[in-house]
Amino acid sequence: MSDLPIHEIVIIGAGPAGISVAAEAIAKGYDPEKILLIEKSHEITHMIAAKYPEEKPVLANYKGKQVKAEGLLSIGDMSKSSFIQLMNKIILDSKIEVQFNRTVNKIVKLKNGQLQVCTDLECYITNSVFIAIGSMSASRKLIANVDVESRKRIFDDIQNITPEMKDVLVVGGGDSAAEYAMILKNRNHHVSLSYRGSEFTRMLDANSKPLQDFISKNEIIYYPKTEVESVVSKGDLLKVSFTNREQKSFHAIVAALGTDRPINYLASIGIQLCYQGLEIYSESSLPGVFAVGDIASSSGGTINIAFNSGAKALQEAYDYYLETPNSEQLSSR
Ligand SMILES: Cc1cc2nc3c(=O)[nH]c(=O)nc-3n(C[C@H](O)[C@H](O)[C@H](O)COP(=O)(O)OP(=O)(O)OC[C@H]3O[C@@H](n4cnc5c(N)ncnc54)[C@H](O)[C@@H]3O)c2cc1C
Repeated sequence: MSDLPIHEIVIIGAGPAGISVAAEAIAKGYDPEKILLIEKSHEITHMIAAKYPEEKPVLANYKGKQVKAEGLLSIGDMSKSSFIQLMNKIILDSKIEVQFNRTVNKIVKLKNGQLQVCTDLECYITNSVFIAIGSMSASRKLIANVDVESRKRIFDDIQNITPEMKDVLVVGGGDSAAEYAMILKNRNHHVSLSYRGSEFTRMLDANSKPLQDFISKNEIIYYPKTEVESVVSKGDLLKVSFTNREQKSFHAIVAALGTDRPINYLASIGIQLCYQGLEIYSESSLPGVFAVGDIASSSGGTINIAFNSGAKALQEAYDYYLETPNSEQLSSR
């Protein structure tokens, strides 16, 4: 028998989906000591802490997606700080161990049917794994000729835009691009928006209407049917050449181009996702390993969907893979 630490459940990623799995497992009676949460960053809900602008409320029906709660957790509209506090309280109260600043680099199925999960520091044995890493680690990058110096001022969100970066170019035509452009405008930046299309067909009315209003008043300068071809740093400015041969200068660029699922990372740790229709979670190529939350969503998720996803996947693992709570038999299998 292996001497490795044994956990009934290993959760990778401490965002809403991972926290939902943890909360559901505790409610089913699992000993917190048998649940391990591994988080790549230094904090719970890191993506939300890092990517949501401070003035943006957490919306229950984000992008118009209204779902009925299918598990213990569900939110209404609230501030970003209240949401983060609530998630921290759930984890603190649960007494589950969280290992911060750890990255999983391998998951393998053992001959006895259990799973071995290895981080950069240690390996663990478990009966089920929940991959809840979201999709923000694979933000789409600006495809353009960009010199090394300019890269330091091209961001995929507005977190690092300082008041000194007066002229900002936002690139993209979705809701994030619209929200970033309007927030920056309200923070008194001079904002330009470049989009390769002309109509904002991928945007919610709640964003496209106020955005059009800003554009019609010339408060946000809109460059439709443009694509950035190259970016060259000149002092504190970035000289941007568009494919239509126009050139403009900005202090910073926000490339709000959406995200891809981090399938390369999953492949590197030995996992392929299997999609079965419209489920909000997915069992992977390794039985007992589930993808939950945004990483399992083909059309972009929400917090309440991530909560439901964690609850439903935990129930499936409970039905097929997990020991009955409080069983002492895990170590003797
Ligand atoms: C700007 C913005 C605004 C949004 N506003 C709303 C809103 O108002 N309301 C709403 O319902 N939804 C909103 N969403 C969507 C919502 O945030 C997501 O659907 C939700 O956070 C998904 O939860 P998750 O747990 O799947 O992933 P995430 O929240 O992305 O959490 C993933 C966690 O895993 C960690 N992680 C990543 N990679 C690894 C790894 N390799 N190993 C270990 N840990 C890892 C991350 O650090 C993070 O803590 C917004 C999204 C964005 C980008």
